[in-house]
Amino acid sequence: MKKCPTLPDAALKIFPASYASARSQFIDAVQSLENRISIPLDDALSTEAAWLGPADAEHVLVLISGTHGVEGTVGAAIQADTLNRIAELPIVGNTALLFIFALNPHGFQHHRRCDGDGIDLNRNFVDFSKPLPQNPGYIELMDAIYLPENERAARFREYKNTHGNNAFEIAISGGQYTDPNGPFFGGTSPGHGNRAIEQIIAHYKLEGRHLAVVDIHSGLGPYGHGEIICDHLPGTAGFRDAMKWYGPATTAPAEGTSSSVQKEGLLDYRWHELMKERGSFVTLEFGTYSIESLFGTVLNDHRAWKSGKADEIFQSSENMREHFCPADPLWRELILVKGRQIIQLALKGLQS
Ligand SMILES: [Zn+2]
Repeated sequence: MKKCPTLPDAALKIFPASYASARSQFIDAVQSLENRISIPLDDALSTEAAWLGPADAEHVLVLISGTHGVEGTVGAAIQADTLNRIAELPIVGNTALLFIFALNPHGFQHHRRCDGDGIDLNRNFVDFSKPLPQNPGYIELMDAIYLPENERAARFREYKNTHGNNAFEIAISGGQYTDPNGPFFGGTSPGHGNRAIEQIIAHYKLEGRHLAVVDIHSGLGPYGHGEIICDHLPGTAGFRDAMKWYGPATTAPAEGTSSSVQKEGLLDYRWHELMKERGSFVTLEFGTYSIESLFGTVLNDHRAWKSGKADEIFQSSENMREHFCPADPLWRELILVKGRQIIQLALKGLQS
């Protein structure tokens, strides 16, 4: 009997056990590359970037991991797998790859989505010189976040019955700028990852190049599914390119076809501004458990850290790890396969 085609077990070992091992794995894989930078957060934590290809490349595929700390396990695995398979990739012409590792190293280290200042980096790309976005739904639900689960669920049900599901998701996850202890907090100034992105854009002179950016996330959507989310607005060049490059599986929050609702302050917006008409940015979002599990796990994590109790934080870290990167080898294999497909499509699209 013919064996079912699968990835070798060795590939599955590529999922790092911790931030420290992911960082060593990344540094080992890129040490022969000349154009590397390290952007330290402190003595033990850093964001790393490495460039593979000609310095003056016109086309650049950018792969980002750890925008949401804990999700870095998945992003780092895909980056490592890509680095291992460079010789097999369809790279032609004047093309480079830029790897951005652990944009939020603090969250990666501590199994959190937010950074050490409580900032969700993917709500942090707003203009801080202007009044910050308002989220009245979050303010209405804020005290419920820290209640025991059954009381919280009752308050949430009441809100959903009055305002609908979409309004509920925007209230909780759309972004809020008032509660630093709470989830999806956009901050009051640029966070470490935001400043790191500016440094990387300047260092690698990304302005004017043709860019395909894939920002790797996990924890939202159906189990094992890799959703290609495009936050470019319909009618823009970035939107058109994303649809063309990645095909009909590409979803758009602006059109209501995504697991994700429209959000404030996404990292996407900085890249949209940078690439103008030349390229596209997509979020590659790997689904795990249900949206109820996502909200429950993340909200409990914020409650645990706010309490400061070591046992609650420990238990929450375990739950966060499993929600954002299930131990199930079947799930992990699906993720590596999908990652390979998307990288291949990004390179083909970029070079077409
Ligand atoms: Zn994420």
